[in-house]
Amino acid sequence: MNVMGHGRKAASLAAAAILAIGGVAGCAKEDTGGTTESGVKLVKTGALTTCTHLPYAPFQSKDQSGKVVGFDVALIDLVATKLGVTQEIVDTPFEGIKSGSDLNAGKCDVAAAGMTITDERKKVLDFSDPYFDATQALAVLTGKEVKTLEELVGKRLGVQGGTTGEEYINTQVKEKNLKIEVVSYKDLAALQQALATNQVVAAVNDLPVWNEYIKANPGKVVVATGFDTGEQYGFAVKKGNAELLKNVNEALAASRTDGTYDKIYATWIGEKPAA
Ligand code: GLN
Repeated sequence: MNVMGHGRKAASLAAAAILAIGGVAGCAKEDTGGTTESGVKLVKTGALTTCTHLPYAPFQSKDQSGKVVGFDVALIDLVATKLGVTQEIVDTPFEGIKSGSDLNAGKCDVAAAGMTITDERKKVLDFSDPYFDATQALAVLTGKEVKTLEELVGKRLGVQGGTTGEEYINTQVKEKNLKIEVVSYKDLAALQQALATNQVVAAVNDLPVWNEYIKANPGKVVVATGFDTGEQYGFAVKKGNAELLKNVNEALAASRTDGTYDKIYATWIGEKPAA
């Protein structure tokens, strides 16, 4: 009994010691952020941490090796290089990105998610200069035809939750009093899957992501019509993070003058539309 008692006590003391060591080591390892040589504060030492919402090809998606690549990734890599650090990408729901809560919580330094600059989002985020022009597009399975939203009355139309495409459709449906069943999916992959499996008759999202989907899945879907929403994408930083924003804008501007932007555009998007 006694021996057992001692044994237990010794074991629990040892466990406490291990916990204590673990605790200390945990504290020492905790990264409270870093500052680049040029004086820009970052949430993690040696890294420019980017929040994004996967998948959103051609702006960000995983390649066959699992690496996140794309148009936005390539542009933010330029910012990271300018700061002398490497980009690290965090995949997180779009809601936390567009609401500013991820940036405010220090989850990342910058948001790069094919995100449209809107007045509402400007209230909670500081946007970079625009880096991409986009419109909304309605895709259907090959062989089907839809030219107007009116043709979708009584049918199911898919959108992606939290996006400008969803907002555009909801506004149209309300204004025109159209009895369309708008179904919201949590991400692009779920929306595309719903369209491919006929759960919705049509799906709305940004035009470049449909173009990319059609390239990757030839013959499956077509863009039936477009809505010229005149959107522009911007990268975002936490409200008030002027130092980082300046670096983002400078890297963007430099890429436009030295031809890097055009190269990245050609790689990920394709031919540039005539200005
Ligand atoms: N451009 C759209 C928006 O900002 C979609 C972005 C996305 O789904 N990643 O809402």
